[in-house]
Amino acid sequence: MAKHIFVTGGVVSSLGKGLTSASVGLLLEQRGIRVRMQKLDPYINVDPGTMSPYQHGEVYVLDDGSETDLDLGHYERFTHSKLTRDSNYTTGQIYQSVIHKERRGEFLGKTVQVIPHITNEIKSVIHKLAEPDVDVVITEIGGTVGDIESQPFLEAIRQFSLDVGKENCLYIHLTLVPYLKAAGELKTKPTQHSVGQLREIGIQPDILICRTEQSISREDREKIALFCNVPIDAVIEEKDKDFSIYEVPLSLANNNLDNLIVEQLALAAAELDLDQWHDLLGSLRNPEHEVSIAVVGKYAEHRDAYKSIYESLDHAGIANRAQVCIQPIQSETIEREGPERVLAGFDGVLVPGGFGERGIEGKVEAIRLAREKRIPMFGICLGMQCAAVEFARNVCQLPGAHSTEFDKNTPHPVICLLDEQQTITDKGGTMRLGSQPTKLVVDSKALECYGQESVDERHRHRYEFNNAYRQQFSAHGMRFAGTSPDDSLVEVIEVADHPWFVAVQYHPEFKSKPTGAHPLFAGFVAAAVEHQIARTEGRKDREGKTAAGGRSRNG
Ligand code: GLN
Repeated sequence: MAKHIFVTGGVVSSLGKGLTSASVGLLLEQRGIRVRMQKLDPYINVDPGTMSPYQHGEVYVLDDGSETDLDLGHYERFTHSKLTRDSNYTTGQIYQSVIHKERRGEFLGKTVQVIPHITNEIKSVIHKLAEPDVDVVITEIGGTVGDIESQPFLEAIRQFSLDVGKENCLYIHLTLVPYLKAAGELKTKPTQHSVGQLREIGIQPDILICRTEQSISREDREKIALFCNVPIDAVIEEKDKDFSIYEVPLSLANNNLDNLIVEQLALAAAELDLDQWHDLLGSLRNPEHEVSIAVVGKYAEHRDAYKSIYESLDHAGIANRAQVCIQPIQSETIEREGPERVLAGFDGVLVPGGFGERGIEGKVEAIRLAREKRIPMFGICLGMQCAAVEFARNVCQLPGAHSTEFDKNTPHPVICLLDEQQTITDKGGTMRLGSQPTKLVVDSKALECYGQESVDERHRHRYEFNNAYRQQFSAHGMRFAGTSPDDSLVEVIEVADHPWFVAVQYHPEFKSKPTGAHPLFAGFVAAAVEHQIARTEGRKDREGKTAAGGRSRNG
């Protein structure tokens, strides 16, 4: 029977519960334990798919097409846990399901209530993950203890240990131990209060993980242990890491977290093997190159909006022994100041996915500059669509070319609505979503990167390349490097005469790992390294004279 770990958070939000939960998963896996990870989010949206990145950060897409919380990205990057629709539930989904059951008369005339109907539904979605090939299910509860909307979830995980036995459940509570500059000391009171609130609900945490800027003294740990009713060994420090998030699992292991869990849950476990993680930190610490990449998007100022993109660039840096300096750039800045000025000195330009018109022209201009100046350029989803618009306008000489998402009356709709999207009115969960196959053509950059002709990648879009323009684009030097196997949908485009200009309709950033960089990100950063070397050797200008832009413009 699978055992269960529940991770809750207290004191403040944004403590890095997702990263800590993923690290717990990683440590257990590296001891030979099979884990399955899950996040329960207390908000009422059915999924984050309809939320603005300002509210929620990136929407993380799984193979099965579910649009999920970005913490699932941490889970997938750190562990091998199978992630599906069942890996992320929200209050909205739980209520939706209970209400459907009520309408079908499944409650046999009873009054439907938070306890037991909502809590039963929550417990059932946790049980779903405890399949026979799983040793430990790790369930992270979103939000902060004390929030009204978290209460049914906390009540459900309290009941859970009554149902399956306390010996099969472990409660980890993540808190903050702040440093007060004025007092010159760490403060344990917020942690005491947060645990106090948990205990009021009936949950006694087994392990406390304390986020802190400064090392916690033994005396403070003793105090936390006493007031929170846990053994001192179970008060684990998680100090801020200013170098890399990949240090988190190593430091938790140094503080004995994996042994504590293995002992408390009486798990059969192997010796901890973190060699791979030490190696990757070694590569990060000793880079041989340094490249700067501009990520030109609409939400550049928001740390979480392009989370998986930033992480994937880091992975590619590890794979290329390069320090990747990522510079998020607001695309509207390019509209105001021009791409030449804003993008001077970069070795690569990445234009990520997105929705809505704001900043589109800045993205198109960034892509133009990268194409003309032969700077490595990577377009993802909306970034690919903008690359098509740029090529149509400036190379194929189709003035006013656009995506119908932004200009319904464009004379040249090079990007238009997918057929299957024409009649859809609901916004939630209705895009082209999830893993779909792409077939790559010989001699393409993409095939060179992947090393295989057929790849599966995750999608999240409504618009696509308009096939009516394929021939014209090809004639002007655009390579259709990847399509759906039946050739009906364009998936990858490349400017043939360019050092590295690849744009994809899908989202490769959802399949990159620190221990296995995504081939396209690895290829992009490798090209940026070459660009950087050429730049410092002063060869860039000479090469620029034979730029793709000039030549392909003449057809
Ligand atoms: N807005 C575009 C579409 O819906 C691109 C989506 C994206 O970048 N994820 O097709």
